[in-house]
Amino acid sequence: MLQTYRHLYARKVKMFRLLYEFTYNSCGACVQSNCACKDRICQHVEERASEKGIRLERTDHFLRFIGPNGCVVPPHLRETCTIYLCGPAQQKPGFDSVRYTKIRRICDRIEWRIMELEEAYGKGLHLAAHS
Ligand code: SF4
Ligand code: SF4
Repeated sequence: MLQTYRHLYARKVKMFRLLYEFTYNSCGACVQSNCACKDRICQHVEERASEKGIRLERTDHFLRFIGPNGCVVPPHLRETCTIYLCGPAQQKPGFDSVRYTKIRRICDRIEWRIMELEEAYGKGLHLAAHS
C-alpha cells in the first residue's frame, strides 16, 4: 500500500506541474485582478501541508508564499491554486483545452485516490511514504 501511495504521489507531483504551466501562462497578467492570490488561500495551503507533516517556508511578502518569481509553494502542494483557471482564460486563442481538460481530469482522479488512501490509513501516510 505504501508503494501504491508513493507511486500515486510521484504521479501527482508530475501532473500538477503540467497543470501549473497552464495557470502560470494565463494568470501572470492578472496580478491586479483580485482573483489570484489571497491570504485565506495561503493559510489553507499551509494548514493542509502541515497536516501531512510538511512545513512550508514563508517569504517576506505580505502574502506569505510570494517570492520574486511568484508563489514558492510547489504546484502539488497548493492544489486549489493550481487547479483553478477561469473560463475567459480557457477561451483565449491558442489555449489547448483538450490537453488542459485531460490533465485536469487526471489530477482530479489522482487526488481522489490519494484522499481515499489517507482517509483509510491516516494523514501520517504521507510521512511514512516519504521517510
Ligand atoms: S483564473 Fe483567470 S482571472 Fe484569475 S488570475 Fe487566472 S487568468 Fe486571471
Ligand atoms: S498561489 Fe501561492 S501565494 Fe497564491 S494563493 Fe496559492 S498558495 Fe497563496
